[in-house]
Amino acid sequence: MNNAWSKDDFMKQIIARNPGEPEFHQAVNEVASCIIPFIREHPKYREACILERMCEPDRTISFKVVWEGDNGAVNINRGYRVQFNNAIGPYKGGLRFHPTVNPGILKFLGFEQTFKNSLTTLPMGAAKGGSDFDPKGKSEREIMRFCQAFMIELSHYIGHFTDIPAGDIGVGAREISYMFGEYKRISHQFTGVLTGKSLEYGGSLIRKEATGYGCVYFMEEMLNEQGESVRGKTCAISGSGNVALYCAEKINHLGGKVITLSDSDGFIHDPDGIDEDKLGTIIELKTRRRGRLAEYAENSGCNYFPESKPWGIECDLAFPCATENEISKSDAALLAGGGCLALAEGANMPTTAEALEVLRNSNILIAPGKAANAGGVAVSGLEMSQNSMRMAWSTTELESKLQSIMKDIHRQCLAHGRTNGYIDYVRGANIAGFIKVADAMLAYGII
Ligand code: GLU
Repeated sequence: MNNAWSKDDFMKQIIARNPGEPEFHQAVNEVASCIIPFIREHPKYREACILERMCEPDRTISFKVVWEGDNGAVNINRGYRVQFNNAIGPYKGGLRFHPTVNPGILKFLGFEQTFKNSLTTLPMGAAKGGSDFDPKGKSEREIMRFCQAFMIELSHYIGHFTDIPAGDIGVGAREISYMFGEYKRISHQFTGVLTGKSLEYGGSLIRKEATGYGCVYFMEEMLNEQGESVRGKTCAISGSGNVALYCAEKINHLGGKVITLSDSDGFIHDPDGIDEDKLGTIIELKTRRRGRLAEYAENSGCNYFPESKPWGIECDLAFPCATENEISKSDAALLAGGGCLALAEGANMPTTAEALEVLRNSNILIAPGKAANAGGVAVSGLEMSQNSMRMAWSTTELESKLQSIMKDIHRQCLAHGRTNGYIDYVRGANIAGFIKVADAMLAYGII
């Protein structure tokens, strides 16, 4: 691959080596667009094939998960762990349980995680894993049996000094608890092998809020740079998982107005703002009862749009917090037409390549997921520190550490993202994330 130094040639080789993995191609293409011009100016990275090596996971583990349903039926799922890069620390990243999970999706997520974890300033390598198991409609006991069966296999490949998984879509504190209990039982060890744990057994305060809070802190930094702030801004959010809900909470704290939230069935629109009380009701519905937003709309009388996304609603700030590629080119045009100033990605790669182009051309500031949603894994890193020290920091201490990490990420993006008159946070995040991992890899020599 050493001679492939136009981005197009580089991408041809990536596509040939990784057929049928469009999300991975999309993620690499975005990074390569920023990094190849940078490497041309820094030939040491090219000579050691650093970018090519960063595009190839260290290993991909795949295993069978067999579990029994409540009706006695035997079910078979596939489990994975993609250990992507451990140049700057042990493998670290979430587990996703969703029917769309496949090796290509996990490779894209593991690749993104390499840059994200590097940006946090904490010593964490990158991994991602999960299963095509669909938690929707499963009973509590079925979830428990699946998590236990999944961990029996995964336990061979993880450890508090080697690979520390956490949650992602479909994996929250409940699933982490079942998996941690199983790991403890089979390993005879009590270690910080997973993060996102409950407080009683080594979890960290503000972990569940961290991704959403961090995303709003990052947005606040971007706006401050322009002499603006979140206060008084109208905010459209997609999603209603932990990321979206705590993003909404922090927007309310900072004096912004949240007007939308969504789930896979549709979105709610409340022009008066989803204030603290309304949000409390939604958090209760979503996290304790696993209900749908349609039910909230029916009870509260707020507007509900089935089978649609919120991007046609006029807003100052957009926070896509649902899933990958949820903002298409036409959604981006609607946001631009509606006067949107800035967008911060709470989800991983929620914006398609064509949509990014539209947003950029409209001068909308874009905080890429690897910078804007790094608060979650950053507090996971702080959970690891607390576990190692056998102690726990307070909410105030953790919020201030999270805030200073998000400021630091913003500073790194600025250092590499300034162009004439527009701050390209996508380029800034990619270059800053790359340099730390690349320099560590260079230092190790050819291994
Ligand atoms: N799944 C989250 C992410 O995408 C968190 C990972 C972690 O805490 O290890 O960054």
